[in-house]
Amino acid sequence: MPFRLTDDQRELRDELRTFTDEEVIPVASTLDHAGTYPNGILSGLADRGVTGLTIGESYGGRGQGNVELVVTIEELSAGLMSVGAALALHLGVAAAVEEFGTERQRDEYLPEMARFETVGALGLSEENAGSDKTAMETRAERDGSGWSLTGHKQWVTNVREADVVLLYAKTGPEDDAPENVSAFLVPTDDLSVAHEWDAIGGDSVPTARVEFEDLHVPDDRMVGQQGTALTDRRELTGGVNLPARAVGIARASLDVAVVYAGEREQFGQPIGEFQGVEWRLAEMAERVETARLLTLRAAEAADRGDADAGTLTSMAKVHATEAAVENASDAMDVHGGVGFTSEYPVERYFRDAKLLTVAGGPNDVHRNTVADAVSSE
Ligand SMILES: Cc1cc2nc3c(=O)[nH]c(=O)nc-3n(C[C@H](O)[C@H](O)[C@H](O)COP(=O)(O)OP(=O)(O)OC[C@H]3O[C@@H](n4cnc5c(N)ncnc54)[C@H](O)[C@@H]3O)c2cc1C
Repeated sequence: MPFRLTDDQRELRDELRTFTDEEVIPVASTLDHAGTYPNGILSGLADRGVTGLTIGESYGGRGQGNVELVVTIEELSAGLMSVGAALALHLGVAAAVEEFGTERQRDEYLPEMARFETVGALGLSEENAGSDKTAMETRAERDGSGWSLTGHKQWVTNVREADVVLLYAKTGPEDDAPENVSAFLVPTDDLSVAHEWDAIGGDSVPTARVEFEDLHVPDDRMVGQQGTALTDRRELTGGVNLPARAVGIARASLDVAVVYAGEREQFGQPIGEFQGVEWRLAEMAERVETARLLTLRAAEAADRGDADAGTLTSMAKVHATEAAVENASDAMDVHGGVGFTSEYPVERYFRDAKLLTVAGGPNDVHRNTVADAVSSE
């Protein structure tokens, strides 16, 4: 089994690392604390074709797989997790269109999505349908040549800046669950923002609740076959972006802790020479490596279409997000009092890492996935 990225993958990593060092890290704190959308950064990624990273080359994308997605999202999230989030959600919508959409939908959406002229967001979770998506209340009723949608979506990250939401609604009776949900491409202009969440992390790409009533959506905006959206979703493999974001934060936490431990002196020596601090840094490094290996392993399995890719993704999600929280917390401790202030990035790493243990499904629900797989072996 190869433990080394290919030359092309290393080139991609280096391209993104340089971009992050030059374009993301210098402005990350300012954007985060002001809650400012990272417009310039995302435009820079569009100029480099990164906003079409996993979109097929025939639609103007770079045609890359999950390993390259992981490499990219780790690098960007080491600078500012919200950038990784906005890009991953956008590419997730594009993947659904490419995999399950009609040829007409692909031609209409994907070239513009690759250029980031059409930006995608995800409308799946609801107030009473968080971990349990089958409890969804949003309904789509037949309405002439299309559908009439009524309901809400509780958490739509980037809805203010996005152009289109992949929105899930029930189109069939409860008895047919989970095969009673369909997905629709809905313009964000048709949705009203009912509440902006004052979240403690991911502040530069905010999340909002949207509501809609008797919203007409034409038939040709349905992505995939009627009633198959929840089951189709399980086939999408881009979930590896979640642990990749966490690896980025875990690594950034280690990097700044190493620098600070080398500079800060107490008792007449750098604090990094105290064995307690050295061991803490060693454990942080070990977490970065194990989280990255597991995430890349899940991505590679997904790219090969292995049957255990979903289980590996859940393992990576739990392991990497918890590694990110622990590393951010350790980095705060290494920084002492200033670690608790906004003068240093470690408090942001901690806030952003904590979000990742819930976003994309709570870790305990991913533990259930792993437990089910282990029990059925
Ligand atoms: C900032 C932010 C951005 C988000 N962005 C988006 C987005 O863009 N699009 C979108 O669709 N969603 C988004 N979400 C929603 C996110 O995916 C949900 O919050 C998540 O799926 C959990 O749902 P919930 O919050 O309703 O928690 P609940 O489902 O109520 O779970 C609460 C807790 O109950 C426990 N629990 C629940 N079920 C089980 C179980 N079966 N076994 C064991 N424990 C269990 C877990 O400990 C869990 O943490 C976002 C959330 C946040 C906070």
